[in-house]
Amino acid sequence: MGKIILTGDRPTGRLHVGHYVGSLKRRVELQNSGEYNEIFIMIADAQALTDNADNPEKVRQNIIEVALDYLACGLDPEKSTLFIQSQIPELCELSFYYMNLVTVSRLQRNPTVKSEIQMRNFEASIPVGFFTYPISQAADITAFQATTVPVGEDQMPMLEQTREIVHKFNTVYGETLTMPDILLPDNKACLRLPGTDGKAKMSKSLGNCIYLSDTEAEVKKKIMSMFTDPNHLRVEDPGQVEGNPVFIYLDAFCREQHFAKYLPDYQNLSELKAHYTRGGLGDVKVKKFLNAVLQEELEPIRQRRKEWEKRIPEVYRILEEGSKKAEKVAAETLAAVKRSMKINYFEDKELIAQQAKRFGEEA
Ligand code: ATP
Ligand code: MG
Repeated sequence: MGKIILTGDRPTGRLHVGHYVGSLKRRVELQNSGEYNEIFIMIADAQALTDNADNPEKVRQNIIEVALDYLACGLDPEKSTLFIQSQIPELCELSFYYMNLVTVSRLQRNPTVKSEIQMRNFEASIPVGFFTYPISQAADITAFQATTVPVGEDQMPMLEQTREIVHKFNTVYGETLTMPDILLPDNKACLRLPGTDGKAKMSKSLGNCIYLSDTEAEVKKKIMSMFTDPNHLRVEDPGQVEGNPVFIYLDAFCREQHFAKYLPDYQNLSELKAHYTRGGLGDVKVKKFLNAVLQEELEPIRQRRKEWEKRIPEVYRILEEGSKKAEKVAAETLAAVKRSMKINYFEDKELIAQQAKRFGEEA
């Protein structure tokens, strides 16, 4: 079977630099490493509908945005299978059977779902589909027998939940599903990139994002008005780098060669941080540096996106082909699951013979 990747994104908006450092950049590296036998990248439209049931048009419009962001970042349809979740009905069937292996109280304990429920003000009116999306995520991961799931830190509880379902399934019905491992970013700053407003997570739903497809001017404007240390009022004041999103973005994006190129007064990020902490370094200078670093990373992505934007029907064909291929794989897993659960009555010759014998004897 080898090594298999499954990961994806909800089409609730264009992708942002949080997605990029949390998962997208890694996927492209893994794709190009040649170490993986199969890479499945899913646009999770069915999951997006669990909290956007009244706004299917938003999800519909954003599928192509996410696909363009994928291609712009260097996901290559020759090497990775790009597909749309709702086009794989087998995933619903798998979820349906996995639901019997999970308790309501276990779902209630999921910290990511808990905070998402709070954020969306669902309170007592949580849609059942939203509440159970960790189970559907287990179906997504296991359908492709994924060994590796490269995601941001907020997905840790989902992976734990999936691993529990796999363990339970294999214990009750016999070894069938592959146990997946989470692959988190190595760089601590990338685990959960904060928003430009300083909130704990850059998130489409919070409107605090720098999008991969933002223009150069938009990116600059967002960076120059970013939240920093609120107590760093005058240049000479000592500043704080911990929890300061400008420095967290630098942790995530800047490398030593950027200093020689854009800020030769400093050798590296530690020197820059030390100066800021001591006082005498203004936010504007740091932000201008961050802007230079980020523009360098984003410019090739923007250029590739522009090229793909001229080939929209081809992008849909890529997703259609990918979905067909993904469905074949998911169908094989579903068949194996049903065999293990012994709900494959018509191909179970032994069962039919047994029943015939039983009724024959009784007659
Ligand atoms: P939504 O608000 O609709 O949930 P989102 O911005 O949280 O959107 P998802 O589609 O839920 O994005 O997440 C897709 C992937 O990107 C996941 O692997 C997730 O861990 C990762 N990710 C999302 N936001 C960040 C972030 N700020 N930092 C690091 N990784 C992130
Ligand atoms: Mg999310």
